[in-house]
Amino acid sequence: MPLLNETHDPALRSWVASAHRAGTDFPIQNLPFAVFRRKGSLEAWRGGVAIGDQIVDLAAAAALAVFDGPAGMAALAGSQDKLNALMARGQPAWRALRLALSRGLREGAAEQRQLQACLVPQAEAEYDVPARIGDYTDFYTSVHHATNIGRLFRPDNPLLPNYKWVPIGYHGRASSIGVSGQAFRRPQGQTLPPGAAQPVAGPCKRLDIELELGVFIGEGNALGGPVAIAQAEDHVFGICLLNDWSARDIQAWEYQPLGPFLSKSFATTISPWIVTLEALAPYRAPFQRPEGDPQPLPYLDCAAHREAGSLDIQLQVELLTPRMREAGHAPATLCRTSYRHAYWTLAQMVTHHTVNGCNLQPGDLLGSGTLSGPTLDQAGALIELTGGGKQPVALPGGEQRTFLEDGDSVVLRGWCEKPGAARIGFGLCEGTVLPALQAPQR
Ligand code: MN
Repeated sequence: MPLLNETHDPALRSWVASAHRAGTDFPIQNLPFAVFRRKGSLEAWRGGVAIGDQIVDLAAAAALAVFDGPAGMAALAGSQDKLNALMARGQPAWRALRLALSRGLREGAAEQRQLQACLVPQAEAEYDVPARIGDYTDFYTSVHHATNIGRLFRPDNPLLPNYKWVPIGYHGRASSIGVSGQAFRRPQGQTLPPGAAQPVAGPCKRLDIELELGVFIGEGNALGGPVAIAQAEDHVFGICLLNDWSARDIQAWEYQPLGPFLSKSFATTISPWIVTLEALAPYRAPFQRPEGDPQPLPYLDCAAHREAGSLDIQLQVELLTPRMREAGHAPATLCRTSYRHAYWTLAQMVTHHTVNGCNLQPGDLLGSGTLSGPTLDQAGALIELTGGGKQPVALPGGEQRTFLEDGDSVVLRGWCEKPGAARIGFGLCEGTVLPALQAPQR
């Protein structure tokens, strides 16, 4: 697990002035990766690294040979239209590039003049999904979410007996994953109206969000070669924000016996920026089980993981309706929570995913599952915040919501802060609901 080093020093200063603006997500201690190009241009997509309100263009840095050795090779790998090649190079390459970028962006750096020529303002950029995502797996790692949802779907049997032993997941759909700014049509499908004997087809009436983190796999593992928990994080490139839009009425009718299908596969939105595990090192927290709960089986447990396997990432969900937008209201905060409440960690997700020999590949994406905290105001989905759609949430301007309406935008934010470390953030993960494409089909 990465330890603190010179790149985490909170006293570091960059020659990029905006990296010091109060509240910036991207100080020199962060250095997250994205794929970008100038907005509205036909430029090639390529990798970039955020610093303040700027992007270091990795293709430009590679062309100018700003970095040499392993860092130069990593910058070249990061110049492609997707980050899979950089992800596949493994942790030593990512660490070398981070160190070279940190040194080159510091005040007084010899590389300043060259790197200055590689900067593109974030205000002029558009982003793409940062990797070719071969496979997407969504987990269910919040015991609070599992209990709240279970109570709504199965009042007599909220938490199934396997939950505290096995990290639950399902295989999701990669093709409909989009980057922040994604707008998607309200899905249609089969639902069983309350009290009805037969299902109907039509637009979803209970469209929801799921506040999640996305974990990008870096170096893969060979088919048949499980990843031990002590090495699990070596296979993780970094973390983004993820909104797993969910059609609850479709889900309730379809989810048994094989789990979610069309209730999830119509859209998933991720933030463009991937924050590396190395950048998150100051925000590690002990992995602990509540008193009386079973300890993880030995393959999901090791001393280093117990000491620092969790991450304290602050998370927030905001909602902006069309009427609020017109009235000039700021988005309303729906919930605040932290990733440290997760029952299963990212290392446990990786190890469990591979325990049967399944091969993860560079660019694969793992969703954490909805990250609801211990109290209901920390719930990361509307179905929990509204008690199954029974208690609407009040919004500025007198509106209410149980589930999402057409034109609603949802913004996820994530950040880490504590005394003695630089505050780092994830940028935004925003998505907007468009009206269903056509009238209900018979
Ligand atoms: Mn989910």
